[in-house]
Amino acid sequence: MDRLDECLKRPYLLLTPGPLSTSEGVRKAMLKDWCTWDKDYNNLVEEIRQELVALCVKSENRKKYTSVLMQGSGSFGVESVLGTVIPRKNAKLLVLANGAYGNRMGEIASTLRINYRIEKFGDKNPVISEKVRKILEEDSEITHVSIVHSETTSGILNPVFEVGKIVKEFNKIYIVDAMSSFGGINISLEELQADFIISSSNKCIQGVPGFSFIICKKNILEKCVGQARSLSLDLYEQWKTMEENHGKWRFTSPTHTVRAFYQALSELKEEGGIEAREKRYRENNKILREGMKELGFETFIPEEFQSPIITSFIAPKSKDYNFEKFYKNLKKQGFVIYPGKVTEIDSFRIGNIGEVYPQDMRELLQVIKNSITW
Ligand SMILES: *Cc1c(COP(=O)(O)O)cnc(C)c1O
Repeated sequence: MDRLDECLKRPYLLLTPGPLSTSEGVRKAMLKDWCTWDKDYNNLVEEIRQELVALCVKSENRKKYTSVLMQGSGSFGVESVLGTVIPRKNAKLLVLANGAYGNRMGEIASTLRINYRIEKFGDKNPVISEKVRKILEEDSEITHVSIVHSETTSGILNPVFEVGKIVKEFNKIYIVDAMSSFGGINISLEELQADFIISSSNKCIQGVPGFSFIICKKNILEKCVGQARSLSLDLYEQWKTMEENHGKWRFTSPTHTVRAFYQALSELKEEGGIEAREKRYRENNKILREGMKELGFETFIPEEFQSPIITSFIAPKSKDYNFEKFYKNLKKQGFVIYPGKVTEIDSFRIGNIGEVYPQDMRELLQVIKNSITW
């Protein structure tokens, strides 16, 4: 077991797309215990809820939007949205998928017995908006459309703004999993035309795991009363309790995680907001991709579709390459990377979000260079 003083140090940098490396400030913010019914804590929650809306909606439109925090990881948030928002009768969800997280929305729909249809575009291709138009023209039963913005499986970025335009031409409800992009890529909800977006505490806001959050159109959420397929993941009831009791969660909330998230939001502000953070992530990503190319690695996703969040590299063909060995070697030298999740091809992934800076990327490249035994 780790000794406690070892836990206080940071033994390695997580180059994984969440949980990710957090700042010392965020970790220190967890040292206090909180009452879930006390005003001090509930005020924190209310400030967080307002700030989340403020991060993606212009001030004159903020009254039309609201946000809800939900216990659990990001998938719990997605499940709470799909399970609450889609009526049991006369509704059909179109899931657009090109990776594990898109597929997961299909699994959620199937498990909850939601009437749905899934359209798969393959791991390597972005969602094609014209295909979405065709489906909506043909299938008039569809009432809701869901998509992943940054498909963390491969690092591909989907054209969520283009798709949003089409979804709204057909007057459907639009649900966007912005899990690994919110806070790291500037998103305007008005431009995106999304009715619901979902993200979580341990991604680009740079908090620790424990809850997800949903930012949505208030008038649409208000219509979802009594629709949920789960008691604890009832998004409407969660929202109503938070609204009526000014920041009170329905069931026990992850208090330390919430306090750390509050700190993470203030550090985001200090950094210069989402624009500054996006700039840092883009720089990290550029240094990584260019450096890896020089070292002979090929990327899985063409540059034009590549997100600034995480990059998939194709495993070297040499029989001297062994991912386990490569991984252990990098870990020993201070960097934890991610095994591939892309099904089609052997690959590994390197994330560049979190408390990670261009200098870290340069050091990583040096370590990789010295680890190449093939
Ligand atoms: C992280 C992530 C999720 C949620 O995964 P959890 O393991 O439940 O936190 C969902 N979608 C995307 C795109 C993600 O990156």
